[in-house]
Amino acid sequence: HTLDRSAPVFVAGRNGLVGSAVWRHLTAEGFTALLGPGSAELDLRDRRAVFDWFAENQPQAVILAAARVGGIKANATRPTEFISDNLRIQVNVLDAALKHRVQRLLFLGSSCIYPRDAAQPIRESALLTGPLEETNDAYAIAKIAGILQVQAVRRQYGLPWISAMPTNLYGPGDNFHAENSHVLPSLIRRFDQAHVEKAAKVVNWGTGTPRREFLHVDDLARACLVLLERYDSDSPINVGTGEDLTIRELAEMVASVVGYEGALEWDPTQPDGTPRKVLDISRISALGWTPEIGLYDGIASTYAWYMSRGFAGL
Ligand code: GDP
Repeated sequence: HTLDRSAPVFVAGRNGLVGSAVWRHLTAEGFTALLGPGSAELDLRDRRAVFDWFAENQPQAVILAAARVGGIKANATRPTEFISDNLRIQVNVLDAALKHRVQRLLFLGSSCIYPRDAAQPIRESALLTGPLEETNDAYAIAKIAGILQVQAVRRQYGLPWISAMPTNLYGPGDNFHAENSHVLPSLIRRFDQAHVEKAAKVVNWGTGTPRREFLHVDDLARACLVLLERYDSDSPINVGTGEDLTIRELAEMVASVVGYEGALEWDPTQPDGTPRKVLDISRISALGWTPEIGLYDGIASTYAWYMSRGFAGL
């Protein structure tokens, strides 16, 4: 499925962490007709607006990287928005893409769709084999619905659409909100602030013992193009590094990048979430894709981006 570099490709969620990285990568790969309306221009929750936009722009491929996302606290406290916004965004885009018979469509989910107690590393076949982690079940159910809709369209209409499940992502363009963001941007912000204020200690959430895997968003962006051109299967496909570390080890790494030398403490009244989440990446490895950005280097360049945006000491 080699994509025509001059045909219109819709990067839904173009201003987000994933969409902006996909946009950079496709531009570098010679795509000349990328389409990426911002949310002010096109609210993907608005069905009529989405259908009108497709009729006018006729994309030939779609990367669905638009979603309401957030860290463990945002997911646990606002499940209503996480399920409702995500269902509406994806149903509208998938329905409009079907109406216009879009040939190539990549739906992006998340590793949290897998059962909380799935065997590690998690294989794609673990989908729907057990109960979900409660802190993000609303988001996960929405994403699982998207996977099933993609599979349904494949079976019923024969369109070669696919779904990919990235692990925890990070990189430039992330959300660094103190409460609502994911762990890595939260830690960068907290340690930078502690460094600037010369604080004696930093308190992180939970016990520090859960294990997580982290993928730089530029590695995911490369994977998206590889998948659109080389992957055609009913099964969603994992995108990760296949390697994990404890949240405590992650915190120590961020402290070292930032240059913070004070004490590290943990607040076990905050949720830990799922104990471990690392993906089996044999399927995508077989397609010739492999992650290239090491975690320490990726954190360092993300921290440099954060500083360049004038966020220091916030
Ligand atoms: P998850 O991977 O879906 O659980 O989402 P997160 O990225 O939000 O959290 C990952 C882990 O990091 C959890 O065990 C959190 O308790 C832990 N953590 C430690 N400090 C923080 C923090 O400041 N923010 C967030 N979001 N998580 C933190």
